[in-house]
Amino acid sequence: MAKIIEGKRCASNLKIKITRQANYLQEKHGIIPGLAVVLVGQDPASQVYVRNKGKQAKECGITSIEHKLDTNTSDQELLELIAKLNQDPVVNGILVQLPLPNHIDSAKVLKAIDSTKDVDGFHPVNVGLLSIGDKGMIPCTPLGSLMLLQEHLGDLSGKHAVIIGRSNIVGKPMFNLLLQHNCTVTVAHSRTCNLEYTIQSADIVVAAVGVPQLIKGSWLKPGAVVIDVGINRIKTALGTTKLVGDVDFDSAIDIASAITPVPGGVGPMTIACLLYNTLIATCRQHQIEMLTT
Ligand code: NDP
Repeated sequence: MAKIIEGKRCASNLKIKITRQANYLQEKHGIIPGLAVVLVGQDPASQVYVRNKGKQAKECGITSIEHKLDTNTSDQELLELIAKLNQDPVVNGILVQLPLPNHIDSAKVLKAIDSTKDVDGFHPVNVGLLSIGDKGMIPCTPLGSLMLLQEHLGDLSGKHAVIIGRSNIVGKPMFNLLLQHNCTVTVAHSRTCNLEYTIQSADIVVAAVGVPQLIKGSWLKPGAVVIDVGINRIKTALGTTKLVGDVDFDSAIDIASAITPVPGGVGPMTIACLLYNTLIATCRQHQIEMLTT
């Protein structure tokens, strides 16, 4: 039976460290880290995410400044707000909640964020820095997934990792992170031939697909460590709904040595890493060393 990798507990521990560092910044330097969260439109899931991020930021001693804009906001209006936030010294991190309404050019908006305040790590400068292994902002979900793997496995050197999914926000940055940590990395996607065979040799499986319970326990190498990034809402036999991952948890738990649950696995780490990135951005902008403990 696999060990459950408790993302919630790991995220709580990370938030304790963030709070300690935020208190230190305030007491020693009079600085309160500031995170600006921009939400355009009424998407219910995005509203919940933004509310959670704001609440958890405050709990950690980070000021959260929410900017809620109408669905019909133009590219120009959004770009003007970002330009203001880029200049604002009390704003250390800027997050534009995705997805943006279709009429807005998301790539243009993400490029407009000052790369030193880009706590999501989606700006092309940060994407480039990650790919050359230099100091930038690392996207939150892959960073949180890496932390969970390190907590469970320690050194990742020499492990064969298979990532399923090649999106810019999860799969590709995860590839760069695991490569930096000396894994041998395979990236699978929708055109991969024989996914089952590809996964069979993996010591580490990172599933970021968006297809409920796609990956079966029988596809895994016995003892594999599974990080399930997927969040999918499905209907149950009782007519209610529930959240499941991209991995078929019930069959995987008998084959894997460790697995993240959904919910309560990668999700809590994503938010904790957003706050961690805000802290890193604040320290770098003020040229202050982070506390080590
Ligand atoms: P995308 O839709 O952007 O990417 C999905 C990837 O999966 C694509 O690369 C696609 O391949 C690949 N794919 C789709 N179907 C298959 C298949 N049958 N076999 C193999 N590969 C396939 O999704 P995201 O990366 O944004 O998100 C992935 C999942 O993670 C979603 O469930 C999302 O909700 C969740 N998520 C969770 C977060 C968290 O905090 N826990 C944060 C972000 C996302 P191709 O490129 O060929 O189309």
